[in-house]
Amino acid sequence: MDLNRHDFQLDELVEKIRTGDHRLVALQLPEGLKIQALEMIDTLESDTDAQVIIAADPCYGACDLVHHKMKMMGVDLVAHMGHSQMNIDSGMETQFIDVTYDGTPELAPVIPFLSTHRKMAQERLSESSVQEIGEAEAQERFLDAVGRITPLTDVKLGLVGSIQHLHLLEEYKAMLENAGFDVIIPTGGDRLTFPGQVLGCNYSGDDPSIGHYLFLGSGDFHPVGLVLHTGKPLSILDPYTSEAREMSLEQIERILRQRFGLIMAADKANSFGILIGEKPGQMRRSMALRLKRLLEKHEKKGYLLALEHVGPELIDFYPVDAFVNTACPRIAIDDSVKYAKPLLTPFELEVILGEKQWESGYQFDEIP
Ligand code: SF4
Repeated sequence: MDLNRHDFQLDELVEKIRTGDHRLVALQLPEGLKIQALEMIDTLESDTDAQVIIAADPCYGACDLVHHKMKMMGVDLVAHMGHSQMNIDSGMETQFIDVTYDGTPELAPVIPFLSTHRKMAQERLSESSVQEIGEAEAQERFLDAVGRITPLTDVKLGLVGSIQHLHLLEEYKAMLENAGFDVIIPTGGDRLTFPGQVLGCNYSGDDPSIGHYLFLGSGDFHPVGLVLHTGKPLSILDPYTSEAREMSLEQIERILRQRFGLIMAADKANSFGILIGEKPGQMRRSMALRLKRLLEKHEKKGYLLALEHVGPELIDFYPVDAFVNTACPRIAIDDSVKYAKPLLTPFELEVILGEKQWESGYQFDEIP
């Protein structure tokens, strides 16, 4: 990744600090951009009268806004970089700073993947009229990941991206339409700020007219969540490297098998630690309380544990049989191997308790 090709839009922040006469500003950045934080502080402190503090704890999203602790330190403005505002109130004045990347990868290498995926979607569309199938067949399709039983009304290409590449979407939509695809840039719910945006915990723009996806971005974090949530084929075009690829079905199947293994491992568990995230955009207290009541209904025990950061060293020693996580949904999906005991999503707990059915499709844990 060439950091010099990122555009940090600091002008608005400088203006905001000057007009608001802010004196102590907390700068919060994603991990990959922290290396440039000192340079930004130099700019901000020379262009304004403010002192700037780096909020140096890990930050993976706008769910994790600086809040009351910095207020106690006297911070009067938070500058949050690289994520967009979501439907939460941290209790502090926060300026969101866009970061864009100027990479514009060629479309041609991804076209063969898109054509194959459109064909798969067309086949699924013609199959989707079959309503009643047996349990064995359902499970077979489910383990096929993209063969999940999801209603489809069309085979449009859903064009999405991670935040630093969203400015490319309209241009790529036009290019894809020229290449013969029927393209939609989906608009999601309140947690998402921009059309085409996806988060690791929210893919709410998905709808039955979308048959397959193209993701502009890097890494597997968003692609894994998108396929787990939608069950639809996904191509990836990486603006950092210009690489074109598809989300591997083997990888999704491996994750689903692992989830099923954890459900089996926790099947006879009697006591559960229920994790509540303290970060403003991860806190699902009502869900945690509902799960505790559900466990009681099934004559099992649930203990509530509130944490800012979730990690094995902070929970493994509790004498419970398993954990269920209501904080960032990706902790259970991406990190469960790090924990000594099964770490489940709320849906998976409900499967164990017989309240939900695995056979009718894996339900991704989304924060709306
Ligand atoms: S995936 Fe997790 S870290 Fe990312 S925005 Fe959602 S809750 Fe926050």
